[in-house]
Amino acid sequence: MPDKKNSKKKYLKKGRTHGQKVKLVRGKTAKRQCSICGNPLEGVPHGATKSGVRKLSKTQKKPSVPFGGILCNKCRTITSEEAAKIISGKKIEEIDLRFMPFVQAILKRL
Ligand SMILES: [Zn+2]
Repeated sequence: MPDKKNSKKKYLKKGRTHGQKVKLVRGKTAKRQCSICGNPLEGVPHGATKSGVRKLSKTQKKPSVPFGGILCNKCRTITSEEAAKIISGKKIEEIDLRFMPFVQAILKRL
């Protein structure tokens, strides 16, 4: 018996063909969200099929900045500012807990 988890239906959605018949079609990729604030990310593909995203080049899939494709612009700025403050003497316990893992990742790279 085929495994239900790996079946083709997992990524197929109900859609309409040009002849207005209901048929299963491949789903499109959703908008990606910032992992801190949840706002939609910029510079990442959405609305394309999975195979369409796979064919894009590396720089078309996500911006080539630290935490590109993970954090939005605002959160990335705050994270790097907090990392700079820690280097210049701020205590690590005073940071917002949501930013903590990303600040620690920056400090590890230095
Ligand atoms: Zn954000």
